[in-house]
Amino acid sequence: MQLQFVGCGDAFGSGGRQNTCFHVTGASVNFLIDCGASSLPALKGLGIERNAIDLVLITHFHGDHFAGLPFFLLDAQFSRRTRPLIIAGPEGIQMRFPQVMEALFEHSSKTRQKFELSVLPLKPEETRNIGGVKITPYPVVHGDSGGPFLAYRLEVEGRVLAYTADTEWTEALVPLGRGADLLIAEAYTYERAVRNHLSLQTLEEHLAEIAPKRLILTHMSDDMLSRLDGLGHTAAHDGMIVEF
Ligand SMILES: [Zn+2]
Ligand SMILES: [Zn+2]
Repeated sequence: MQLQFVGCGDAFGSGGRQNTCFHVTGASVNFLIDCGASSLPALKGLGIERNAIDLVLITHFHGDHFAGLPFFLLDAQFSRRTRPLIIAGPEGIQMRFPQVMEALFEHSSKTRQKFELSVLPLKPEETRNIGGVKITPYPVVHGDSGGPFLAYRLEVEGRVLAYTADTEWTEALVPLGRGADLLIAEAYTYERAVRNHLSLQTLEEHLAEIAPKRLILTHMSDDMLSRLDGLGHTAAHDGMIVEF
């Protein structure tokens, strides 16, 4: 399995980083996790073939994770995509998706695609298999707007990939990431507690319990980015490729 960080930034482009978007490929799977506002130019910049992507998995409806979808969809239409596309995310996505399309490109939500488009709501702790990706969503804690908020534990081609999404500490992160081959975790700040987000210090307090085989930090603020030297953990950067 391979994962490329198309974008690993926060909502504010800290460090000049792109909004959240991870591209995961294996022998028979090709999907995105999150599609933040800047994802289409970031995908194009990395030379990633958008029309080979079968699934886009959304963690929540904040723009830095979700607002790239209208651009992605329009690009698919104009590049004559024929491959079916599944967009899956928290409940409410059937309403939120046309809303974001309309907000960014008026009337675009009514355009009929020339490819089959499915928008699927996912429920916390209800495992679904979508195109060979076994998805278990966990509920996470990230404030009062833009939810529901999901983190994902994915079993795919014999490997386990877990992503915390944006969240403050919640016990759900233990089963989410336990023993995962790769855990991608938010480390918004180094030690400073920020509501709705995870600090590296808090994550470290629970790391032995989660015991991921590998950990990569993402969604870092300027504060966290200034601490990367000698950190003792791997931090993501845009374009980074990980085999797991
Ligand atoms: Zn975010
Ligand atoms: Zn968020």
